[in-house]
Amino acid sequence: MPPSLTDFDFRNRTVTVMGLGGFGGGIGAVRFLAEAGANVIVTDLRSETELRPSLSQLDSSWPVTLHLGRHEEADFRSTDLVVVSPAVPKESRFLAIARDADVPLTSEMNLFWERNRGRVLAVTGSNGKSTTTALTHAILAADHNNPKRERVAVAHRCWLGGNIGISLLPEVRRIQPDDWVVLELSSFQLDDLSPLRPRPEVAVVTNFSPNHLDRHGTVESYRAAKHNLLRWQSAEQFAVLNARSEVASWQTAATRLRFGSVDDHRFGIFGDGSEVVTRLPIDLGGEQQLPLGRWLRIPGPHNWQNAQAAIAASLAAGASVAAIEQAVSSFRGLPHRLEFVAEVDSRRCFNDSKSTTPEATVLALQSFDEPIVLLAGGYDKRIDLSAIASAAVSHCRAVALLGQTGPQLGQIIEAAARTANVVGPICRAFESLEPAVAWSLQESAPDDIVLLSPGCASYDWFQNYIERGEQFSSLVQRTGQDVSHRGAEAQRKLTN
Ligand code: ADP
Repeated sequence: MPPSLTDFDFRNRTVTVMGLGGFGGGIGAVRFLAEAGANVIVTDLRSETELRPSLSQLDSSWPVTLHLGRHEEADFRSTDLVVVSPAVPKESRFLAIARDADVPLTSEMNLFWERNRGRVLAVTGSNGKSTTTALTHAILAADHNNPKRERVAVAHRCWLGGNIGISLLPEVRRIQPDDWVVLELSSFQLDDLSPLRPRPEVAVVTNFSPNHLDRHGTVESYRAAKHNLLRWQSAEQFAVLNARSEVASWQTAATRLRFGSVDDHRFGIFGDGSEVVTRLPIDLGGEQQLPLGRWLRIPGPHNWQNAQAAIAASLAAGASVAAIEQAVSSFRGLPHRLEFVAEVDSRRCFNDSKSTTPEATVLALQSFDEPIVLLAGGYDKRIDLSAIASAAVSHCRAVALLGQTGPQLGQIIEAAARTANVVGPICRAFESLEPAVAWSLQESAPDDIVLLSPGCASYDWFQNYIERGEQFSSLVQRTGQDVSHRGAEAQRKLTN
């Protein structure tokens, strides 16, 4: 990526958008470019059918040419700029063609970053990014919407975007210097941002664990990408870091605010009982006790951590305790992240399809005291799944094995049970989701939890985790309706 394209004049230039995707970034780039006067070529390896949800958002008045289901060399050689999706592998031969033809490469986030005048609060990490980002934004927005707020900076607006699935690029000119921009950034986006030396006013790193090694190659390059968020910060800025993770010691010139269970008497937010203590510089509220246990509604120790990170970050951005109370108490979590779907025959069913790492599945399993029937497995990212196996042995009654990694996961669960010298959960591998859901409900007992928390990516069976989660939810809901229908029938027969 070139250092900066701030002065690039898009009028009547040809710009290739490589990868439309389904998460908002591609459409955001096309809208921005079309409104700036460019002729846009959209090219994606996916077919028109696969891209339909995104294509339906294209405005017919925009000058857009579609080359779908393939890439054409000419779109990379005879163009003025290529906007590359973060999902495109760096070794793509089409990127090499553009480089050889001296065509500059950029990304939707880079175009946004170099034009944004607002104050950035950015969140990254291996897990918990979206939840932390959304909650932080909710707190800052609660402050903005509070008419009684007496703080000076009340005029700011608060924007939410980035990897969470919202592109702020088309809005970039409306963002004012006093506004807060709360961004979720993936490691791919941070990798691309490095030539711009990003310096967010508040940076949050939720945690770090090996992930995406298929794309980043090594743990070191994945770590280096995440570290870009802190690397260029300066002393008047803040870095909110997980005290229980290696990220706590990542180099940064910013003031560190740690979050975690154990109070180490440094700046940050601590506690895992019902109360947390915040210890901040005096101008940001100094030392306070907050009854987080009373406010927080989303389950699990990981969400306790996410809430701590969001509170520390929003306090660093100047939020009030009243806004924290209001936003945290009304936050119900995000779809596909331990989302409650339905109760079927006294089994509570949860959709945690966003869990694409073993750590996420372990945390989901640890969020419940009841026995669990787990649905896990998926696309093979070449990561070690043994953490799921040992957690499944202690928390699960049964495990429905999904996708490419299913059979292997079944073997390591059985091995973990043998090592622990216990009778492990019953495991069965499936070829599709529908019979897996039916079996999971059958194997469960009343008051159990039925949990889709795959611990793996979804690309083998589904387009993405959203499709996976939606299919799970509709299968569960359909079964729930059948069960209540049968229940009503049985009741009628009894009373007749
Ligand atoms: P991300 O945006 O990083 O993928 P999300 O907030 O969308 O994270 O959460 C996705 C899943 O990751 C959740 O369903 C949960 O299983 C897991 N998770 C969330 N927060 C954490 C955390 N702090 N630590 C570990 N895992 C987490």
